[in-house]
Amino acid sequence: MKIRKLMSVLLFYTLVVGIFLTAAYWGSRATTVIARKIPLERYATVVIDAGHGGVGGGATSCSGKLESTFNLEIALRLNDLMRLMGVHTKMVRTSDISVHTQGETIAAKKVSDLKNRVNLVNGTENALLVSIHQNTFSDSRYSGAQVFYAQEGEGQQLAEQLQSALVHSLNPGSNRRCKPADGIYLMEHLERTGVLIECGFLSNTEEEAKLRSAIYQKQLICVIAATVSNFLDR
Ligand SMILES: [Zn+2]
Repeated sequence: MKIRKLMSVLLFYTLVVGIFLTAAYWGSRATTVIARKIPLERYATVVIDAGHGGVGGGATSCSGKLESTFNLEIALRLNDLMRLMGVHTKMVRTSDISVHTQGETIAAKKVSDLKNRVNLVNGTENALLVSIHQNTFSDSRYSGAQVFYAQEGEGQQLAEQLQSALVHSLNPGSNRRCKPADGIYLMEHLERTGVLIECGFLSNTEEEAKLRSAIYQKQLICVIAATVSNFLDR
């Protein structure tokens, strides 16, 4: 009798411990899922903006290639990789076009283009903007990627992470720091978190040659995609 009682007590405790462990397991799984989902839901769509395009080619590189072409090549590669990583993306343009809807003159078309880019990002719920541009300067010595952010807080955090990753991976020794995007229409009118990446200087012969190469473009987008993905998964 005593043995049967002991057995039933043991069975009872085994059941209780089993239920407790199962609950703890599913509880921790639920916590993990929720913890990962919150930031992903906060930034549901990464809007990838290839700067300029069509009537607005942006800067011209030292070998005569338009900035808008560099931007589009890099943005298309970034979009492919981010989609492969499971991130929902939206591209502002996928070909050599201006996204204007109004204007007779080139200047008016450029204004309409910028307004439409702003409206596209602001009109996308939980959007995170990554705008791709190239830099240029009268002194050809300058090189290196630089990141600009629309707002302090999360935009600045992402910009700091991107700047650090780009310096360490592609521009070792560079002392470039991210900056607020003062005077950039798209960024100043943004109501979403956003960064603008100047991938390098088209006025520097060595850097321009790298930016034209597929291998360097792939290195760039790997650094950008990995950093943005880490930011989304916090
Ligand atoms: Zn530009």
